[in-house]
Amino acid sequence: MTAPIVIDGKEASARLKTAIAVSVADLKAKHGITPGLATVLVGEDPASQVYVRSKQKTATAAGMNSFQHDLPASTSQADLLKLVHQLNADPAVHGILVQLPLPKHIDQFAVISALSPAKDVDGLHPERAGRLLAGGDALVACTPTGCLMLITDVMPNIAGKNAVVLGRSVLVGKPVSLLLLNENCTVTMAHSKTTDLPGLCRSADILVAAVGRPEMVRGDWIKKGAIVIDVGINRVATPDGKGKLVGDVHYAEAAQVAGAITPVPGGVGPMTIACLMVNTLKAACAIHAVTDVAVPTRLPPR
Ligand code: NDP
Repeated sequence: MTAPIVIDGKEASARLKTAIAVSVADLKAKHGITPGLATVLVGEDPASQVYVRSKQKTATAAGMNSFQHDLPASTSQADLLKLVHQLNADPAVHGILVQLPLPKHIDQFAVISALSPAKDVDGLHPERAGRLLAGGDALVACTPTGCLMLITDVMPNIAGKNAVVLGRSVLVGKPVSLLLLNENCTVTMAHSKTTDLPGLCRSADILVAAVGRPEMVRGDWIKKGAIVIDVGINRVATPDGKGKLVGDVHYAEAAQVAGAITPVPGGVGPMTIACLMVNTLKAACAIHAVTDVAVPTRLPPR
């Protein structure tokens, strides 16, 4: 039995970030434009603070400008919308990232819908979703883009492959499915009402799991040689009380069967922030109608 390829998201994201930094330098040299990423954090949720700081650090390391807006949890929806409108109009800002979830008194959809679609680097604005559906060039949500890049790094041409996506969320499942469809895979989107999930998964040459159920996908659900992308991040209890992170796939079992598999942590996760940088670069180029700077759509070769 051959060992699977372990898809190393950290190594892949480092490769991608290097390519982005080169393109950012190119954009500055040729056009005098520095991509700017504005991050908006409402409240003091520790996990969100870590994510936002990491996004800012990565942007700065790639040579971009980073504008940070930390607002108290008591911020009104009207004040948040006012800031969004300011950022929409600010020529130094090419990408706006409103860290989710927002406090309960704020209507998340209203805020996302107020973003300029041209600057929505999280790819969640309804217009961005529509463009992806139409098969056009879009700012696609970062985690799905990262999944596709990891898949095509293992198998550059996936046309005709059977892909099963577990989960149909707006954030992950649906955009991943559309990206795979745009690559000419035959895609099945599964969810909590799907019957015979194990049988369906066994038909998949490419299996993407995004359900948020710890180790739900077992080894005998997986077709021999399949590419398995585990998006799930679940914290589970351990006897020492420290807890640990596991994916939606039972890694030890799946690794016996899969041809390639992402670990959790260290698989899809690191790609998400790198793809946010891709989107910020892409937005800056699109806003300024720049066409002679490379925006990565695939992982660069090793
Ligand atoms: P959601 O909760 O929004 O969606 C989960 C989806 O899984 C739903 O479509 C749901 O079906 C489906 N589902 C739930 N239970 C089952 C089941 N027993 N069988 C089949 N389908 C089921 O989650 P997200 O899409 O936001 O996230 C999914 C996972 O990915 C989470 O673990 C999350 O933490 C992780 N994540 C990781 C990221 C990363 O950077 N690595 C980024 C974003 C998310 P239905 O629609 O019928 O309810």
